[in-house]
Amino acid sequence: MFNKILIANRGEIACRVAATCKRLGIASVAVYSDADANAKHVAACDEAVHIGGSAAADSYLRIERIIEAALRTGAQAVHPGYGFLSENEDFAHACEKAGLVFIGPPVSAIAAMGSKAAAKALMHAAAVPLVPGYHGDDQDAELLRGEADEIGYPVLLKASAGGGGKGMRVVERGEDFAAALASCKREAASSFGNDRVLIEKYLTRPRHIEVQVFADTQGGAVYLFDRDCSVQRRHQKVLEEAPAPGLSDELRRAMGEAAVAAARAVEYVGAGTVEFIMADGQFYFMEMNTRLQVEHPVTEMITGQDLVEWQLRVAAGEPLPLSQDELRVRGHAIEARIYAENPSRGFLPSTGTLKYLRMPEAVEFTIGTPTRAPVRVDSGVREGDAITPFYDPMIAKLIVHGADRDEALARLAHALKDCEAVGPQTNVEFLRRVVASEPFACADLDTGLIERHRDALFAPASRPFKEALALACAALLTREGGLAHGASPWDALSHWRLNGPYRQSIDWRDVERDEAFRVVYLRDGDARSLEHAQWTEPFDWWRGSEPHALGAHIGDSRVTGRVFVDDDVFHVFCQGTSLAFEWTNLLAHAADAEHGEGRLTAPMPGKVIAVLVEPGAVVEKGAPLIVMEAMKMEHTIGAPTAGKIAEVLFAVGDQVADGAQLLVMEMGEQS
Ligand code: ADP
Ligand code: ADP
Ligand code: MG
Repeated sequence: MFNKILIANRGEIACRVAATCKRLGIASVAVYSDADANAKHVAACDEAVHIGGSAAADSYLRIERIIEAALRTGAQAVHPGYGFLSENEDFAHACEKAGLVFIGPPVSAIAAMGSKAAAKALMHAAAVPLVPGYHGDDQDAELLRGEADEIGYPVLLKASAGGGGKGMRVVERGEDFAAALASCKREAASSFGNDRVLIEKYLTRPRHIEVQVFADTQGGAVYLFDRDCSVQRRHQKVLEEAPAPGLSDELRRAMGEAAVAAARAVEYVGAGTVEFIMADGQFYFMEMNTRLQVEHPVTEMITGQDLVEWQLRVAAGEPLPLSQDELRVRGHAIEARIYAENPSRGFLPSTGTLKYLRMPEAVEFTIGTPTRAPVRVDSGVREGDAITPFYDPMIAKLIVHGADRDEALARLAHALKDCEAVGPQTNVEFLRRVVASEPFACADLDTGLIERHRDALFAPASRPFKEALALACAALLTREGGLAHGASPWDALSHWRLNGPYRQSIDWRDVERDEAFRVVYLRDGDARSLEHAQWTEPFDWWRGSEPHALGAHIGDSRVTGRVFVDDDVFHVFCQGTSLAFEWTNLLAHAADAEHGEGRLTAPMPGKVIAVLVEPGAVVEKGAPLIVMEAMKMEHTIGAPTAGKIAEVLFAVGDQVADGAQLLVMEMGEQS
C-alpha cells in the first residue's frame, strides 16, 4: 500500500478521499488554486501545494503543475477524484511517465471509453445492447440529418466527448435539426475541445440505471449492484438511490453481468460505472464513466464497502477485497445533491458566501457497519466559505440509509428539514418537495419526473407566516435588548417606559413577497402580545441552547427554529421551511430604480459566448440576443418583447457579473 498520495481535485471529493487516507494511515497532499487557499479540502489533507489561478484551466487542469507537486512532495500515487482530469488520458499517461501510479483505469481504457461514439462501437462488438442511433465517424451535416430522419424524431444529439449533462440537444422535428446541430457542436467544441457528435433515439420516460463495477490487475471483475439516477434536471442527477427500485433478481443480474462484460471488453482496472438507459424493461448501454462517481456513497451504504479504499488497494496491485458471491445488498440508500442554484430560474447556479450553513447531524461514516450510520453528509465547504463561479456549485451531498426504501425516504425527508443556508440560493426547498412528491415516494421514477410534475414541484410553498414572524420578532427584541427574555424591566429595550405598558412598532418587509407591513409588540405587566393588521395574539419567546435557536408561543402555537440575522435581514428557519424578513425601521427607502425599461441583465455571473444581434436590429419577442456560459451550462438571453436593439454592451469572450446590463433595447409593443 502507498505511504503518501496526492489528490488532484477539490471540494467534497477531495475531502472524501482524504478521509479514507487518514483512516488507512496514508499521508495526503492537496493541491489548490488561488480561490481555494483556505478551502476545506486543503485543511483535510496533511500537506498542500498551490498550483495556480482560480480558473480551473489555470490550476486543477494543469497537468504539469500537478505532476510537479506530486514529485516534490514524494507522493507515490495520484487520485483524480471526479470531473477535472479524472477522465483525461493525457493526465493518466503523464502520471505513468513520471513514475506515479494513477489511481484509475489504464490509459487505454480511458481512451476507449472517452469517446462515447467509439465506446458504443466497442460495446456493440461485446454484445452489450445499444440505443438505436448513429455513432459513425462521418460528421457531414447532411448525412447526420439523414441519419436522424431515419432513426425518427425525437432524437438526441450528444457530444461524443461530452459529460456532466453538457453538449446534448433534443431535436423534436427535422426542421430544427440544423440549428440544434450547430449549437451542440459549438458547446462541444468550447467545453470538450472536440465537436464530434452522435445521434440517439430519444427515449420517452426512460430510467437511468447504472452499475458500479470494479476490476483488479489480476483479472478479477465484479459489480457492486445498481443505482437509479433518474431524477434529473438538465440531464444532471439530483437524487440517486441504491439499489434501483423494482428490478427483478434476473434483470439485476443481467445488468450487472452486462456491465462487467463492458469493463472486460476494455481490460478495465479500478472503479467504473456503466450507465444504462432503460425503457419498457429493456436496458441499453449509454456510456461508461471511468472514475469514481459523485453518487458512489449510496453504493457504499448498501454494500458496507469503502470504494475509495478499494481504489487504493487495486491501484497498489492488491486483488479485489471481495468476490461477487461475497457482495450483498443491505437495505436502501438515497443521496440528495444540495446545490447553490435557483430552481425557479431554470436551476441557474447561484454564487456567494455561505454566511450561515447548518447541515443535519451526521453519524461518522464507519467502515464495516455503515448501515448503522443513517445520515452522512459529504461536503467540501464550511460556513463562511464561498461558492464561486469557478467550480461546480455543489454545497453538499446528503446521504441516508434505511432498512428499506420507505425508511430511507422518511429519514431523508427529515434530514432535509435540517439543511439551512444563507447566502447563495439553494435547491433544498425543491429537494424537499421532490422527496415528498407522490411519484418519488412511490418510486415511479423516470428522467422526466421533474418536468412532468413541474406544477406541483414549483408551486408556492405553504408558509408558516405567523410562526416565522414571531421568531423574527423574538430575534429582533433579543438583539435590541441585548439580553435574553425574562430579564428585568431594565433590560435596555430602547422604548421602555417606566410607567404604563410598553409598545414598540416594528416595520418589516416580507422579502420573498416584497411586501411591507407593521407589527406592534405590546407588553403590559406579564402580558405580552403581537399585533398585526389582521390579528392580535399572545406572544412569548425564549432562547434555545444552540446558536441562533429561538422558541416562541404565538396564539395557540408553539414554534421553535433558528434565526440568522444578516444585517437587517432576519432569515427564519422553522417547520421545515424558511422565510426572510427585513427590518426596515431605520431604512431610508431608496427608490428601486432597477429593472427599468429596456434593461437586459445577466441572470448569473459568466462569460459571453455569442452575440446574436447588432445595434439597430429589430427583433421579435423571444428572439435570442446573447448566449452566456457559466459553470456547466449555456444560457440564452432572449428579447422580453419585440423591439429594437439600441446598444450591445459586451462582446464575445467578456466576463460579466451577475445582474450586469448586457444590452439596451427600445421595447416595442407588447405582443
Ligand atoms: P456523475 O454521473 O458522477 O454525476 P457527471 O458527468 O455529471 O458525473 O460529472 C461529475 C462531476 O464532474 C460534476 O459534478 C462536475 O463536478 C464535474 N464535471 C463534469 N463535467 C464537467 C464540465 N464540463 N465542466 C465542469 N465540471 C464538470
Ligand atoms: P453525460 O456524459 O452528460 O452523463 P449521458 O450520455 O450519460 O451523458 O446522458 C445523461 C442523461 O441524459 C441520462 O442520464 C438521461 O437522462 C439522458 N439521456 C441520455 N441518452 C438518452 C436517450 N437516448 N434518450 C433519452 N434520454 C437520454
Ligand atoms: Mg452520464
